[in-house]
Amino acid sequence: MVAPYTARGMLPSVQIAALLAAFAGLFLGSFLNVCIVRLPAGASIVGPRSQCPACKRTIRAFDNIPILSWLLLRGRCRDCDAAISLQYPLVEAATALLLAACILHTGLHWQTWLDAALAFFALGLAVMDAQTLLLPDAFTLGGLALALLLRAAHPAPNRLQSVIHAALAAALAALLLLCVRWLYHWLRKQEGMGLGDVKLLAMIAAFLGLPLALLTLFLAIISGALVAVAYLLRCKTSAQQKIPFGSYLSAAAMACIFVGKPILHWYLGFFR
Ligand SMILES: [Zn+2]
Repeated sequence: MVAPYTARGMLPSVQIAALLAAFAGLFLGSFLNVCIVRLPAGASIVGPRSQCPACKRTIRAFDNIPILSWLLLRGRCRDCDAAISLQYPLVEAATALLLAACILHTGLHWQTWLDAALAFFALGLAVMDAQTLLLPDAFTLGGLALALLLRAAHPAPNRLQSVIHAALAAALAALLLLCVRWLYHWLRKQEGMGLGDVKLLAMIAAFLGLPLALLTLFLAIISGALVAVAYLLRCKTSAQQKIPFGSYLSAAAMACIFVGKPILHWYLGFFR
């Protein structure tokens, strides 16, 4: 039997959907750049239109085409020649690649909406925390709400169960990090982790479920510790320097979308 979308001479529907998702991802990435710049500063993401940070002139629509405009302008403002950060085309390209990868990974499945939404929020939060050490509620709690909404909109009959599971997973993940936070505060008498990290892990748990959220936390701690040790050895920076733990959590969550389940299966295989 031949599926209607995979007729000879046509690309399979999954690949077409991935191409369309990559195209949409370029523009979503452009919007993500606006969020990354404005949300930590407490500015509106609706208006006004984007300006050059140096000369404050409004960027023309034809200079705002994802990736292409940056390449054509060779990374400089058309008006004042000030350098435009490489971050803009990189975030646009990363969003496009992540959305396409989510579809190629899961296929045209309901889960893909959850994966793609998590990838979008996690990418934005990774960059925001690395730059500002801030994890805006609009993204952490907004992402958590979207995860529950997507599960509530699931066409399957067990969607109420799915929403309750996700809400419980979010609550337990948040409680776990809150305990770690309290313990650190009790031992060191100082704040070790922001509440933003707690909300971020709750969001990740609502999207991925509790087992993959715990794996995310584990991978974030390991990679964060490795990078911190490497920095201490090479740069002799102060041990008091703050680590953008939210960036590690976000990066680990993005990895878990694609390789989380195989890692969990491999690990659980030791106990069978
Ligand atoms: Zn300018």
